[in-house]
Amino acid sequence: MSRPDRVHIREVGPRDGFQNEPEHIATDDKIRLIEALGRAGFTRIEVASFVRPDVIPQLSDGVEVLNRIDVPDDVKLMVLIPNSRGLDNALKVRGRFHEAAIFVSASETHNKKNVNRTVDETMADNDVMAKRIRAEGLGCAAVVATSFGCPYEGKVEMDRVLGLAERFAEAGATEIGFGDTTGMCNPAYASEFFAAALARLPGVEVTAHFHNTRGQGLANAYAALEAGCTSFESSFGELGGCPVPKGSTGNIATEDLVSMFHEMGVDTGLDLPAVIDAAREAQRVLGRTLTSHSLVAGPIDWHLQSA
Ligand code: ZN
Repeated sequence: MSRPDRVHIREVGPRDGFQNEPEHIATDDKIRLIEALGRAGFTRIEVASFVRPDVIPQLSDGVEVLNRIDVPDDVKLMVLIPNSRGLDNALKVRGRFHEAAIFVSASETHNKKNVNRTVDETMADNDVMAKRIRAEGLGCAAVVATSFGCPYEGKVEMDRVLGLAERFAEAGATEIGFGDTTGMCNPAYASEFFAAALARLPGVEVTAHFHNTRGQGLANAYAALEAGCTSFESSFGELGGCPVPKGSTGNIATEDLVSMFHEMGVDTGLDLPAVIDAAREAQRVLGRTLTSHSLVAGPIDWHLQSA
């Protein structure tokens, strides 16, 4: 397998990141940050979630965000859909997004704690939703959370994870994302896993979604790349985490991922200084120091950047 020389990165900070912030973020600030990301060259951004507002109050303004954001025409906006009622609500603003993400946790315990249903119940709903999403002409991205380990159950069998992925593909998902929800993957396993996933899911986009909970996110992304993965998700400023359990911190930082790929000669289509500017603005809005390395150090060629 020769290393891919071009990848896609979906920015998930406005959803995966903002939902975990303890302080209220004003809708105007969210819109300004998403528009800054749009100018940084992202062609895919996850911007909203249709979970119940009492469950994730941080994202309760999703419809307003979708209605007001102004991004270039080639930017595909994605929303997260937890269940059929969420899909009903999302389809009321059908013209304002391009892709819908549905999800399940591979681990029974995490799924129960996250969405209060069994995996079978969730997948039955997901089968119906995938078909509805495709019938609307939208891209359907399915996410298997806790693909690389569960904080409650420990190891999750690869065969179980890929079995769920195949079921999503049969239901019509055009993309399957594998989430390392609480940062339990390691590079050797990422390499083995993505080689197997790409072989078992022909014709489906396979996406890597790593969290940096234990500092191994970039190493895992490198391993997935070497295995042939060309689709990644990350979060500017290393925002993000998981609602359960508490303390499940940060997605990999988009600016660190972009810096690594660019230095390796892998094209992302992104403007790294603009991504760092957006993360810096997020830091200002949130009023706390964010943990991304490139945000502190700047791009490697920082001395060539105009001030
Ligand atoms: Zn995540």
